[in-house]
Amino acid sequence: MRVLSILALTSFSSLAAERPNILFIFTDDHALQAISAYGGRFKDIAPTPNIDRLAKQGAVFERSYCANSICGPSRACILTGKHSLINGFIDNNSSRFNGAQPTFPKYLQQAGYQTAVIGKWHLVSNPTGFDHWEVLPGQGSYYNPDFIQMDGSTKRIDGYVTDIITDKSLDWLKNRRDKDKPFVLMSQQKAPHRNWSPAERHYKLFDGMDLPEPETLFDNYANRSEALKKQQMTLEKDFWWGNDLLLHGEPTDPRFRKGMANGEYKRMSTAQQAAFDQAYGAENQKLLNDLAAGKLSDKDVTRWKYQRYIKNYLRCIRAVDENVGRLLDYLDESGLAKNTMVIYSSDQGFYLGEHGWYDKRWMFEESLAMPFLIRWPGVVKPGVRSKALIQNIDYAPTFLEAAGVAVPEDIQGRSLLPLLKNDCAAPADWRKAIYYYYSGEGTHRVAAHDGVRSERYKLFHLPKTDEWQLFDLEKDPQEMKSVHADPAYATVLAEMKKTHQELRAQYKIPQG
Ligand code: CA
Repeated sequence: MRVLSILALTSFSSLAAERPNILFIFTDDHALQAISAYGGRFKDIAPTPNIDRLAKQGAVFERSYCANSICGPSRACILTGKHSLINGFIDNNSSRFNGAQPTFPKYLQQAGYQTAVIGKWHLVSNPTGFDHWEVLPGQGSYYNPDFIQMDGSTKRIDGYVTDIITDKSLDWLKNRRDKDKPFVLMSQQKAPHRNWSPAERHYKLFDGMDLPEPETLFDNYANRSEALKKQQMTLEKDFWWGNDLLLHGEPTDPRFRKGMANGEYKRMSTAQQAAFDQAYGAENQKLLNDLAAGKLSDKDVTRWKYQRYIKNYLRCIRAVDENVGRLLDYLDESGLAKNTMVIYSSDQGFYLGEHGWYDKRWMFEESLAMPFLIRWPGVVKPGVRSKALIQNIDYAPTFLEAAGVAVPEDIQGRSLLPLLKNDCAAPADWRKAIYYYYSGEGTHRVAAHDGVRSERYKLFHLPKTDEWQLFDLEKDPQEMKSVHADPAYATVLAEMKKTHQELRAQYKIPQG
């Protein structure tokens, strides 16, 4: 530790002039399929022009993955640069982040940076290592949200959460930081997390349109583990009438799930409720009429749920994108842009109806992938697209190296600087696979599993049933058939099992 401090100090004095600011814009559950810089089926219908500015002026990483596809654990991996089983924040149900452990904000603070986190935190214990913080309690709320203050009190702010988090981020940048120091600001949105509640100005976006469905909306889960049929995250069976579909009262049709009301509606003012009812009323009434008239087949009902879900999800993202624009505009206007590394990322991906699902957790591509766009003038070449395998444990060492701070040996991720300085191409000794772990916490009943993903293949293991699943992502990008038992893949299976063992050993994953 003492050696590290001296190193940090040395780096501080020699690199002080050019040390970059870091603006880390982070959202919750924003899938790659819903960012136009990544393409996807919403590219022209629901573009994200402001996030795409980072792609044009910086780089897009196309193979960027999380280490554990849920909210809290992904954040803990980012702060520590370590896998879940090492940093101790394993799941959202029972973990509490040990704020006494080293994190990248602490190292940067010691090296003379101003550090701040504003918005969603979701690590149970209060933030440590920040000069300024103001965070949502738990999942937070979309309408008139509460914020935990540094003195422990809670303040309710009227308005829409995505706008408010940006207002607070801009206020800190403009008025509240020590301008003699470089900064790291983590501006972290709740959106587009469940339950998908758009800003009033976006209620009518996509109205009357049929948005494209994924090819796998009616996946029957054949040719893969039986565990895929047992989890509870299908549009068909698991969406709540109130909480997810934003309808009032309780359903009378058994194809809709009853029992959880829309809590956001309860938080609204009378005027906000009136605007909400005005926006959704006619469409809701049509559904009730069609159901009463027996007009809707089972598939029609799933399709209706999909449309309600995806429109609200993309409406939430519209507000995110507008607010990314506000932050980027300020960096431009203030002159900060030229010495600020800007990253856009989200804690994991999400199923937008693929495999008939919403939510995340499974190691399939849609939820394993994290968006990662980075702009850093003078370092990252504009317009580059990278296929290097990167992971959220890499962010901490990247920030440290960018700030001239020596990367501690116990950090498990690798600094992306050698890539960023080299057209985002991976050096020869770069990792050939990433490691993934999901604990199997009770929520949604997704089975525990861990695994590895290489450039072409994905192997995962379900310990409870001792099953292996192997996917050839080149031939089967939608992961519809496990080839673990196909003799043609025997060599690949053996190699991937070896990689799995090696990465578990490298990351010191406990046995069992
Ligand atoms: Ca999340």
